[in-house]
Amino acid sequence: MSLFDKFAPQRALQASLAEAGGVAPIATPIDAVQSATSGTIGGRRVILAGTNNYLGLTHDATCRAAAIQAIQSFGTGTTGSRMASGNFAGHRALERALADAFGWPAAIVFSTGYQANLGALSALAGADDFLLVDADSHASIHDACRLSAATTIRFRHNDVENLARRLERLGDDARRTLVVVESLYSTRGDRAPLREIVDVVRRHGAFLLVDEAHSFGVFGARGLGICEELGLLDEVDFIVGTFSKSLGGVGGFCLSRHADLELARMVSRPYIFTASPAPPVIAATHQALRLVLAGHDLRERLQRHAAHVYAEVARLGYQLGTDTPGPVVALVFETREGALGVWQGLMDAGIYTNLMIPPATPSGLSLVRISLSAAHSDDDIAHIVAALAHLAEPQTADGVTAPAI
Ligand code: PMP
Repeated sequence: MSLFDKFAPQRALQASLAEAGGVAPIATPIDAVQSATSGTIGGRRVILAGTNNYLGLTHDATCRAAAIQAIQSFGTGTTGSRMASGNFAGHRALERALADAFGWPAAIVFSTGYQANLGALSALAGADDFLLVDADSHASIHDACRLSAATTIRFRHNDVENLARRLERLGDDARRTLVVVESLYSTRGDRAPLREIVDVVRRHGAFLLVDEAHSFGVFGARGLGICEELGLLDEVDFIVGTFSKSLGGVGGFCLSRHADLELARMVSRPYIFTASPAPPVIAATHQALRLVLAGHDLRERLQRHAAHVYAEVARLGYQLGTDTPGPVVALVFETREGALGVWQGLMDAGIYTNLMIPPATPSGLSLVRISLSAAHSDDDIAHIVAALAHLAEPQTADGVTAPAI
């Protein structure tokens, strides 16, 4: 017996993926990055269509300049927690900017988006409280429930009636319940029915936290996310987001219209017991936030790409994770082999996407996830659509059956 025996399924998966040869479909090594949408993988240039770089801001000249300037002034890292020696001017300024953007009094910046969920949920929901979370939530939300002393209850994905029944059953305890949903689910790219969720949560006097990881910067007149787009910012108690997608950095945040969120930082272990984000990351993220708030050219460009790709992919007969166009284009397959075949076919065409297979996906789904970016050129988008069209053909030129979609 060994500690490592339990990894037998992982060993088998690794072996079966290696057997296929070529570039590894999971943890794909990216050797160089030339721009937000171009990289080198396996010795060749590819279009990057599997990142979360929705606005392409990783390579924006002003964001890069801000990062370099911060390194010159503050150094490469903070070497300490926000509660100790790592509470720099940049962290506080970014918190103020985020809170001001929403017109809310409280904002806490965390070292990652993962820690934002861990830190916010575990601090807000204590021993006598309840966390009521969508079953298909991101791992960071499920892990936050494990870290929290609260009682966790799950409701069926996007099922408002199921949520309502659970709240009814809680009776008076609904008032000490934090309901947690994502506005845009990253696996299928589908949206939560937020209007209905807000109604039910309000009716029962519970609190609502919305994770806008994949929608912040992308939706809403000022890029604040889907709650802004739907006019729901007055109805939501907390918003969690990440710096690692549209903002092109790394880190995360929790914001609230309740000033008392400020107190949560005094008890939040994932906030206290880790080093604060590095100065260049904070400076680049702050600049990216300014760009997001300043205009919607990038958002409009991204929506145009999304509308076009969704229409084309549906026309080609692929099964999509949702009908509502957005930056996440999830192609759903009946088998792992089907997903792997299309992922490989796209790679052969010089397009890097994400392969998502169980156990990393909810409900055992096998997916190829294409992430669109405002930085993709019209030619990039045309190339992606053409490659998908080729892969959708039942027979390839050499008579080999293409992967079933
Ligand atoms: N929440 C959601 C919904 C996510 O999809 C992710 C990342 N994929 C996170 C939180 C964690 O963010 P980060 O990767 O920035 O830690």
